[in-house]
Amino acid sequence: MKRVFIAVIIFSVSCICMNSQGKLLTVAESSGFSSTSDYNYVMNFIGQLQKSSKYIRVENIAKSVEGRDVPLLVIGKPLPKNPSQPAGDGRIVIYIQANIHAGEVEGKEASLMFARDLLSEKDPELLKHVVFLICPNLNPDGNERISRSNRTNQNGPVNGVGVRHNGQFLDLNRDAMKAESPEVRGVITNVFNKWDPAVFMDCHTTNGSYHVEPVTFTWMVNPNGDNSLIRYMSSKMIPQMSSTLLNKYNVENCYYGEFKNMLKPEEGWFYDASGPRYMSNYFGLRNRLGILNENYVHADYESRVRGCYFLIRSLADYASENKDEILKMLSDVDDKTISRGLDPSIADSFAIEYGVRPLPGKVTIKTYEVEPVNTPGTWPPFRKTDRQKDVTVPYYIDFFPAKSVRFPFAYLIRINDRDVVDLLLLQGIRLEKLASESSLEAERFEISRVEGSSRLNQGHYTNRISGKYLNETIVFPAGTLVVRTAQPLANLAAYLLEPQSDDGLLTWNFWDRYLVPQWGTGYYPYPVYKIIDPVELNTISVNSYGY
Ligand SMILES: [Zn+2]
Repeated sequence: MKRVFIAVIIFSVSCICMNSQGKLLTVAESSGFSSTSDYNYVMNFIGQLQKSSKYIRVENIAKSVEGRDVPLLVIGKPLPKNPSQPAGDGRIVIYIQANIHAGEVEGKEASLMFARDLLSEKDPELLKHVVFLICPNLNPDGNERISRSNRTNQNGPVNGVGVRHNGQFLDLNRDAMKAESPEVRGVITNVFNKWDPAVFMDCHTTNGSYHVEPVTFTWMVNPNGDNSLIRYMSSKMIPQMSSTLLNKYNVENCYYGEFKNMLKPEEGWFYDASGPRYMSNYFGLRNRLGILNENYVHADYESRVRGCYFLIRSLADYASENKDEILKMLSDVDDKTISRGLDPSIADSFAIEYGVRPLPGKVTIKTYEVEPVNTPGTWPPFRKTDRQKDVTVPYYIDFFPAKSVRFPFAYLIRINDRDVVDLLLLQGIRLEKLASESSLEAERFEISRVEGSSRLNQGHYTNRISGKYLNETIVFPAGTLVVRTAQPLANLAAYLLEPQSDDGLLTWNFWDRYLVPQWGTGYYPYPVYKIIDPVELNTISVNSYGY
């Protein structure tokens, strides 16, 4: 065991592995699926791909907290000269992201294998239709903490994996809305805003329930995203990818979830991460198609890597075959979002609370029977057996609005805060300011209670707020910031600005110092106001703080 480990270290810092036919190998392949690549190996591997093909360019997503580059592979034939070219020639752009949690490494290995194989094919049909953006190692600082003591419940690689958090101890898959890490800020700026991919897949490893399938995946779920896109994914795209993965590539798979109760699997298969802090859900708020890939933690490492590889292939096949349909649908949804914002109806709403219900059809999971463990204090309170059992159960993933507020024509922001302005602009949201003082009918949110969480979460005591909207005529001074909802990113803007949103500026403490007076009781007004009905606004565009 020890000799294998030493050999891996030596080659990982000194060279790139190839097989006897000169084929470039990932660390997973060359180590017989006992190791994963470190930062240098990933960079050298990408360098070799660049030497071998003119159809790849490497861009930079970000510099990590500890100063490592986060490369983005751009692969196309022809290689797009700029981000607008794929849209101009009818190609679809897909973004594959891996290693956001650097203990969950199969996406890193699989995406590098996929890039290599794609570029070594003589005349790949896929590249006629698809431009691939691949980030194999979003969290390089976490990846450099490779140790056998990380994720010890995971079935390999035996030589260890990195850690979950980045160099700031942030979970990058909770950072999409507040964007505090250079890695996520880079993805938003240099991938999402710049390239506007139609489809995004984020690669992870599960932590939960026992089953046979090595690959699981699912769609974006947040109900404040456009529901026609969620329905398209749940009823067509994901089922077809699942069938391709099984029938064409022989990889058993199921939709991602967990049994709420392993002792009673018939109660259902649940997905509970609905917030847009998760990147796949966040992508849905941008009117694009987000996929969460979770490979099964107890499957052996090779099955996970190869399964993830073929899931990428299944996505590429689907997007290539359906690109015209997808691109038209996304363009129509952008148009629909803009026209809603020009004249919102009473039915247009923003959900501040959700329920979840099962899909109409059930799902089959190839699980294992478990036995209760009756020793007090033992967690989990059951033990897996080898008795395999298929269960067909409801899939709880259809999140729906349980409580909603009106969706406005515009949000007006009275407090001119640098962090807020920077974040909204970084997110790609179009921002304006009033050119002159304006008296307007507005909804003001009167706060009755602000409550911080008792436990720190990502360095925050996150807030929840109670109160009610009041209609008033308010004089807004010149310079008041304006976010019109007649823009493609209106759902994202509403999510950040609504006071009762569960993942907005209020949640993540952007407004903390503006809410509570120093003396006395009560609260200041929430600084974001809503203009419900269309009105003429005399505005100037805002491109930076201070403008
Ligand atoms: Zn993960």
